[in-house]
Amino acid sequence: MNSRDVRCDVVVIGAGAAGMMCAATAGRRGRRVLLIEHYPILGEKIRISGGGRCNFTNINAGPGNYLSRNPDFCRSALARFTPRDFVALVERYRIPYHEKKLGQLFCDDTARDLIAMLKTECDRGRVEWRMPCPVDGVVREGDAWMVATPQGVVRADSLVIATGGLTVPKIGATPFGYRVAEQFGLAVVAPTPALVPLALPPDALSRFGDLAGISVDVEVACGGGRFRENLLFTHRGLSGPAILQVSSYWNGKEPIVIDLLPGIDAEDWLAGEGASPARLDTVLARRLPQRFAQLWCEARASSLPIKQLSGKQLREIAAELRAWKLLPSGTLGYNKAEVTLGGVDTRGLSGKTMGAANVPGLHFIGEVVDVTGWLGGYNFQWAWASGHAAGMSA
Ligand SMILES: Cc1cc2nc3c(=O)[nH]c(=O)nc-3n(C[C@H](O)[C@H](O)[C@H](O)COP(=O)(O)OP(=O)(O)OC[C@H]3O[C@@H](n4cnc5c(N)ncnc54)[C@H](O)[C@@H]3O)c2cc1C
Repeated sequence: MNSRDVRCDVVVIGAGAAGMMCAATAGRRGRRVLLIEHYPILGEKIRISGGGRCNFTNINAGPGNYLSRNPDFCRSALARFTPRDFVALVERYRIPYHEKKLGQLFCDDTARDLIAMLKTECDRGRVEWRMPCPVDGVVREGDAWMVATPQGVVRADSLVIATGGLTVPKIGATPFGYRVAEQFGLAVVAPTPALVPLALPPDALSRFGDLAGISVDVEVACGGGRFRENLLFTHRGLSGPAILQVSSYWNGKEPIVIDLLPGIDAEDWLAGEGASPARLDTVLARRLPQRFAQLWCEARASSLPIKQLSGKQLREIAAELRAWKLLPSGTLGYNKAEVTLGGVDTRGLSGKTMGAANVPGLHFIGEVVDVTGWLGGYNFQWAWASGHAAGMSA
């Protein structure tokens, strides 16, 4: 060993949400922990999340809010470190927070409060840092892990990979975690951007691009996901919470199906308006944004007065309002995505310890793992819970 080489019990690579939670937990158990982060600013993803206020958990988080090849994998970690446990920590630090909607908890002031809290938790666990510090590579020598960095080699009993997914590369994302998994024989479920705006093809954009900035309360369904939230038209296509949610279920081929009048029996409603002298778009504008109603009717060339439409035509229009199909041309990619779907295949990991079943001492936590939450605080809850699970065993 040269003078800059160090020994510790646990080395954690990646000081994001999961990495800091894991390091603090292991440190407070008395483990000697070293945390390595290559990006020069701590907790950038936490800082920019939730519009600067970080939607740090969801009080209703449970296994049903996550996508994974193995939907039961997240069950154990989520049960052992719950949203209440994280809220208790936030309250111990007297960080003010509020529920925005649907169980989503946000900081009242700034996400920086959480970064400071996690840093203090690491300090209390006597965690040591190498930051900024890139990692040149990892190898296993006998029972020990050797992590090579330009600042010397770190030797540890346990190695925890907490390098996150591929979103927002300009603040530090790398595929490092997937490469380590492959190096040690673990499978990786192909990563793709998720919780991401969807692009529309030129013909749909030429019809609906003018609606940029308009949002509609809808229910969107796609590939087993169904969400009642707002859809936002943008210059490039579709965004808003409803679209971000279903983007995680979109397979790149099937159209998304939009109920434009959720909670309303469209057929009954239109039948009730059947004698109206008003045009269809005027009637639709009673329940939908006016400009949207106009363009939607223009797109299907049906802006006749409603009383000129036959019962059959009204039923067809009602069916389209209930199930308007749009085929996106793609997603806006990792620069605009909130999370990465896919990642280290959970079939090679223990749900209790996050450790690799066939590689003693190697753990994967947070977004690098093939567990992806819905929009609404679920992804941070997974980072805290999986970080805690590994921190209790590494
Ligand atoms: C714009 C935006 C808003 C979001 N808002 C929310 C929200 O409000 N609520 C919510 O639940 N989720 C939100 N998310 C998702 C959430 O931020 C992530 O799921 C969560 O941060 C994942 O935590 P992590 O620790 O696994 O990964 P990260 O937080 O991504 O941390 C990984 C760390 O590893 C470091 N790293 C990467 N490669 C290397 C390497 N080779 N060597 C050393 N270090 C490395 C990175 O620099 C980074 O610091 C948002 C995401 C984005 C992009």
